[in-house]
Amino acid sequence: METITVRRRLEAARDDLDRSIAVLRGERPVSSADSPQDDADVGTSLSEADRAEAVLASATAQRTEVVDALQRIQDGSYGKCADCGKPIPEGRLEARPEASRCVACQSKRDRMRR
Ligand SMILES: [Zn+2]
Repeated sequence: METITVRRRLEAARDDLDRSIAVLRGERPVSSADSPQDDADVGTSLSEADRAEAVLASATAQRTEVVDALQRIQDGSYGKCADCGKPIPEGRLEARPEASRCVACQSKRDRMRR
């Protein structure tokens, strides 16, 4: 894949995430301290806030990955695994242009996190 294509895809992804994050921030319920609610309503809005929070956290994490990938394009390290230094297979970058590790190193990391 051409670097320019990757860069365009990453920039588009970053812009999409920026928009999603802005929407999520906007939709997050403001403190409801001033508006009395019964218990059922509080329960509902809490779980909705939690869900929005989780989506926002994952969008923010993904944005970080995308921005990091753009940075790697800048400094010429894009496409190499951050852990073992081997080239990341083209197919993986097609599917996930922001990937910073080869499949083997990434699954090792995912296992460690669990
Ligand atoms: Zn690796």
